Amino acid sequence: MLRLTFLGTSGAMPTAARNLSGLSVRHGREHYLLDCGEGTQRQMIRYGTGFDVTAICFTHFHADHYIGAIGFVRTLSMLGRERPLDVYGPAPARAFLQGLLLGGTDPLSFEIRIHEVRPGDAIRRDGATLLPWATQHRITSVGWVLQEDARPGRFHPERAREAGVPEGELWGELQHGRPVTLPGGRVVEPASIVEPLRRGRRVAVTGDTRPCPATPEATRGSDLLVHECTFGDGEAARAIETTHSTAREAGRMAREAGAARLVLTHLSTRYDTDPGTLLAQATEEFAGPVEVARDGMVVEMPHAE
Ligand SMILES: [Zn+2]
Ligand SMILES: [Zn+2]
Repeated sequence: MLRLTFLGTSGAMPTAARNLSGLSVRHGREHYLLDCGEGTQRQMIRYGTGFDVTAICFTHFHADHYIGAIGFVRTLSMLGRERPLDVYGPAPARAFLQGLLLGGTDPLSFEIRIHEVRPGDAIRRDGATLLPWATQHRITSVGWVLQEDARPGRFHPERAREAGVPEGELWGELQHGRPVTLPGGRVVEPASIVEPLRRGRRVAVTGDTRPCPATPEATRGSDLLVHECTFGDGEAARAIETTHSTAREAGRMAREAGAARLVLTHLSTRYDTDPGTLLAQATEEFAGPVEVARDGMVVEMPHAE
């Protein structure tokens, strides 16, 4: 399973219809929370994501992206959580999150493991690698790529038998693309028995940023790019001034990255109820499918085959 649930799609300030930044990404046994703006835990209840979060990944430490984590970890503690929680973020994550999440007077029921990340890090999780890249905002910020592991190709048992490979451990080796040596010394190559590895899915989330060359580079070939889009063409100057992106710029990033699909989020309040302009402007730059996220929107990412 790879499912995204948009918990908050408003930038800077909430509206009646849109909460502050928060995105639930469920992948296999992992449940990631990308940013955790004020009110995120209530949105999780509302949209039924569950509280079984395995890691929180922050893009940066502006208040509209982290305030919700204070209350969320307290709720988890009241519910008696025991499993440690990994929390990732760019500098100054270590010092900042220490005070923010662990500075309460009551101890938590579980351990919080704070990881300060740098662009270029590769964080191994169950079935995927998380790859932070350097975005361009007023403060230190990263975007996050979730790169699913490649899956073994289709295995043909009849071909293995034909080649004289006994069922068991050696089949497993072949399945993982490794040649095996039979008891008689003959080597059997996997290519004749198992099809090539199947590419893993790739999802990228920018967080707040100006359009920058690092984004298409880091997110190349994404099945889905979630790009911030605070403004429309009319506020292009304001986007530069506040280090955000316009819908057109987000569209250009998706095109340059060769993304299969684009979702826009982090909207200025002026587009709250009518994001049509943003959609139109992004579509002029990017030929693939574009959507403007709304709170509660679910995006399922099936395997290509
Ligand atoms: Zn923001
Ligand atoms: Zn910001």
